[in-house]
Formats: sequence, C-alpha cells, structure tokens
Amino acid sequence: MEHDLRKNPALLKLDLYCRGAQLDESCLIEDAGGRPLLRTRAGLGSGLEAILPGGLYTNIPVAEPFTQQSPYRVHHEEGAFVLRLDGDRICELQLSPRPQWYDAETSSGKQMSRVGTLQGTYLGIYPGKVCEYWTREVKDNCKFCSVGLNLGHDDADDKNVDEVLEVVRAARLQSGITYVDFNTGHYEGETYLDLLEPYVRAVKEQTGLLVGVQTPPHADLKRYDELKKMGVNRVSFCFEIFDQERFVEVCPGKHTQYGLDRYLEAIEYCASLGSGDIANFEPWVTNGEIIAGLEDPQSSIRAIDWITEKGAIPTVCIFRPLIGTDYEEVAVPSTEEMVPVFARLYDDCMRRGLPIGVAPNVHVSLVMLPEECVGLSEKPHAHKLNRVKLAGLKKVFAAGFLRRLRAKEQKFPEYARLRDAS
Ligand code: SF4
Repeated sequence: MEHDLRKNPALLKLDLYCRGAQLDESCLIEDAGGRPLLRTRAGLGSGLEAILPGGLYTNIPVAEPFTQQSPYRVHHEEGAFVLRLDGDRICELQLSPRPQWYDAETSSGKQMSRVGTLQGTYLGIYPGKVCEYWTREVKDNCKFCSVGLNLGHDDADDKNVDEVLEVVRAARLQSGITYVDFNTGHYEGETYLDLLEPYVRAVKEQTGLLVGVQTPPHADLKRYDELKKMGVNRVSFCFEIFDQERFVEVCPGKHTQYGLDRYLEAIEYCASLGSGDIANFEPWVTNGEIIAGLEDPQSSIRAIDWITEKGAIPTVCIFRPLIGTDYEEVAVPSTEEMVPVFARLYDDCMRRGLPIGVAPNVHVSLVMLPEECVGLSEKPHAHKLNRVKLAGLKKVFAAGFLRRLRAKEQKFPEYARLRDAS
C-alpha cells in the first residue's frame, strides 16, 4: 500500500474519517459556496462535504470534540481550500457545491433541502416520521444514531409524493443525480415498505432514475420480489454489528424487534434474487451495512466475508461519535486498525466478481465505496480481467442509462417548466 497521503486518496479519505479536521478561521465555508453542515439523516454524517484528489467525495468530521485534536487543518488560502497536516500542505480540497435548488421552494412552500439532501452525488430522502425506537416510553434507539435529535431541524416531517418528485427533478436537472435513496427507521406494524412504495413508483415512472430503499427487514420476504418488479435497484439492510453480543448492546431496538438473524436472512434472500435486468438498465443490488469501529475489526472482516459470500455488497461506515448521541464520548477507531477492514472490502468484492462501481455518477461522501478501497489493498493489480469487465460494463451502462433519463425528461413537461423557471 502507498503510505504517502499525497499519493493515496483512499488512505487520506480513511484517515480523515478517523481523525477529522480543524477548520481554520480563514474558512467561511458557506460564503465560499460549500454545502452547509447539516446533520444528515443517515445518523453518521455531520461534517464538511468535500472532494479529495482522485474525485473521492467525503464528509470530513469537523464538529465533534475529537476533531479538536486532529493534526489536519483546513485553510482558505488565495481563493482555495487547502488541507494541511501538522502544517504541511497535503492537497487542495474542492468543496462539494451547494446546490442552487437547496434554497428553492416546492409548490407547496417547503424549502427543498428539507425534503431531500445530496450525500455526495445522490439524493437522500427520509420520507417518514421519526424512527419509533426514539419515541417509545423507554427509548431503545441505536446508540450511535442521531436521527431522533435531528427531526424538525434539518428535515421536514411530512413529504408528499408531489413534493418529493419536484425535488428529485430539480436535483436531476441542476445536480445531475442518477440515484435516489429512500430511508426509513422502524415503524410498528412494519409499515415502512407500504409507506415508501408510492414514492418509489412515482420516481421510477416519471424520472427513470435508479432507486434504492433502506429499511428494516420486512417479515414477508416476498415483498422484495415486488420491490424488484416495481423497479427498485437497491435494497440495503443496516445490521451495523456482526458480533451478536455487541449487536444487542449497540442496537437494542433492532435486537428486540427483529434480531440479527432477520437482517441476515433478508440479505441472503434478496441477494438470491439475482442481479436484475442490466440490459434494460434495471440492476438489482443487495447491500448489508455495517459500522466499523464499534466492534473488533476482525468481526467487521467476518461480516464482509459473510455478506460477499452471499452475493451482496457490504456498505461499511466508520463510527463517528456525533454530538448528543449516546456514544458521543466513545473513541473513534484508528486508521491503522481500519485499513485491513477496507482492504478486505475491496479484495472480497473483486474476488467474488461483484458489480462494484458500475452506476454512473454515484459518489458517496459518508462511506468508503468498495472500488475506492483499491488504494488500501495489498494486491491492487490483481483481478485484471474483472477490472476490465467492470470498466466495460460501466461505460455501456452509463451510455444507455443516460439516454433513458433524457427520454423521460422529454416526456414529462414538468422538467421543461423547471428549466424555464431556473
Ligand atoms: S433503526 Fe437505529 S439507526 Fe436506524 S433510525 Fe432507528 S435508531 Fe437510528
């Protein structure tokens, strides 16, 4: 592995997640056109949205107390943002642009950034009410989670289908999104899929964008066959922790309500549904999401092995002790112990020929994507045939998929109206 942070953006992205950065007073991020520091709803992001060399999107922790000890400091120098480590220049940082549509309003008068926000280059929408683990008499929310702290501040509580569609179209036209992610917490009666389906149908039919759904695992696994038929392209199950005992401690609500096994069964079932209709630009991907840093790194590695063995793709976040959460004082993991976890993420995906890095223009700021982790692998030049295949697939997929999006844009007059208005 290349240890020079100037030459290895993957290592830099990882190191920044683990150590955060201080913002020098010379930085007036919002005045310089950056995205505001919203506490994003996934419960793990709170930082500075930026793009590292190599086009790696990231969200650098800057708000949490641990960042005050960080050797990294962001400066604003001669019109550019510069990242320094112990005073030495590492690289220039590009701030992820603040979308114009963030300040626009839907026809119903809601600020668009309260309906959906960009996370890297995709649009994240949390259409439901707050996860019910937060509203029980005895709260049993996941200990790292900030969702119940954020509601009513950064996100609107209710979002109807028309409002979501308006924001999706604006984000497509002005930010070039290709993927929309719908996310919910737990609701009694497992109503989350019922809640999401009208949004999914509308977005698929009227925009043709890739759509993903992240919810707890529904008891009726046949619902996932239905989602696939509806055009959902990604299902994601966040079990967070693979070690059974740690799972109970970290995610008490998930443990009581579902149990780790339900999550694993859903992943296995969804992965068994295949990889979708790629020729018609309707892939089907199953993700299992974990948080590295809250259990032994070897347990995270076992989780990655298990997920990839089933044919699913791991999403691996790094634990961040968000202010106000139960774990606000828990230490972040070190870069050294995280490198083998993320190296395994890349190696396993390649070894098993999983379709990573194919969707066009999907950059994620809150996690290290498997394909980004090539810079952490001890064998970055292995799997040559697979790398060539993935590069070819990516090119062909992007060309056809973008044609489909343009056809939708011509078919629906709402796009033309938006264009005229802006
Ligand atoms: S399930 Fe856990 S992580 Fe997800 S919103 Fe609820 S408390 Fe937060």
